Amino acid sequence: MSSCIFCKIIKGEIPSMKLFESEKTLAFLDIMPLSKGHSLIIPKHHGGRLTDIPDDQLVEILSVVKRIATASGAENYNILQNNGRLAHQVVDHVHFHMIPKPNETEGLG
Ligand code: 5GP
Ligand code: ZN
Repeated sequence: MSSCIFCKIIKGEIPSMKLFESEKTLAFLDIMPLSKGHSLIIPKHHGGRLTDIPDDQLVEILSVVKRIATASGAENYNILQNNGRLAHQVVDHVHFHMIPKPNETEGLG
């Protein structure tokens, strides 16, 4: 979808700090992190809501979420996926937030 900011990130038209990329999935750092390492995991297939994404793509996304959690060494973290304005979705391209919850001594968060 040409006007979608995440589709532009996928195409490389907007720069991002990429963490993982495959044929179907992209993970990158959130531009306004709620904590250090806050990342977004998205399907390359454009879909606005969770129900728009095929099951096999959701399975791969959750697998990438797990890999990022493991690779980052995060012990405490939240996975967040917003659908719709009332649920605080701002970007209408399905995305999973991976939000590490650092220890109090680690600052941000
Ligand atoms: P939502 O509220 O839709 O679940 O979250 C959208 C997320 O996308 C926000 O955390 C926001 O900081 C992030 N975001 C919006 N625009 C950009 C961008 O251009 N680059 C990156 N890396 N993240 C973005
Ligand atoms: Zn999109």
